[in-house]
Amino acid sequence: MTSHLDLRQEMIATCLRMNGSGLNIGAAGNLSVRVDGGMLITPSGIAYDRMQPEQIVEMDWDGRYYGSYIPSSEWRFHFDILRARPDVDTVLHSHATNCSILACCRLDIPPVHYMIGVSGGDIVKCSGYAPFGTAELSTEALAALEHRMACLLGNHGVIALGKTPAKAFAVLEEVENLARIYIGTRMLGGGVILGKDEMAVVLERFKSYGKQAGEVDPTLKNRVEPPPYGGPKRL
Ligand code: 13P
Ligand code: ZN
Repeated sequence: MTSHLDLRQEMIATCLRMNGSGLNIGAAGNLSVRVDGGMLITPSGIAYDRMQPEQIVEMDWDGRYYGSYIPSSEWRFHFDILRARPDVDTVLHSHATNCSILACCRLDIPPVHYMIGVSGGDIVKCSGYAPFGTAELSTEALAALEHRMACLLGNHGVIALGKTPAKAFAVLEEVENLARIYIGTRMLGGGVILGKDEMAVVLERFKSYGKQAGEVDPTLKNRVEPPPYGGPKRL
């Protein structure tokens, strides 16, 4: 019997969606999700459209893997990030084109568009280079991800974090769009970069964005204000 069957299927569906949306190419990229006692991680080098739930690999917190498939070559950064970041349960890595272009130029994404707030801060950092699948790359990734939900990997790609595969996917999609916007603005001679104070307001507004009336702390400064309440639903 295969454990976590629904989760394994959700992991494959997320990877297929990632490739189907043009956010990754071929068998590149990988995905892990925290489970009791360790993590589930995509196997190494298997195309997502052939991947079966039982091929997703289980690893424990001692760093051992179980079953007959080898885990992703990037198991180290998945393992280290999930251990260092109790605030996230999913790590998603891809070679999204625009993120990779910036990563190959070793450029951070600055706050050229306010949606950078989705990454948890006012900049998406690009890590230094280390060969794929190494402990050095994991160290670089952890440093670039500090207090952030995403980072670029020098001459490689991007990592997006989230509570669930769907949330990490949403971060990846947004960061790839930010990378595209940033490249476009550089091609037009450079966009206007938002300042620290402007981004502080954005980050505060994100705390109330997408929440229902009762879920927002009324003392929160710079919250997103709905119009005046008119009463129960009429139509
Ligand atoms: P895996 O197929 O081993 O997950 O490797 C893909 C990749 O993107 C390496 O960085
Ligand atoms: Zn990679």
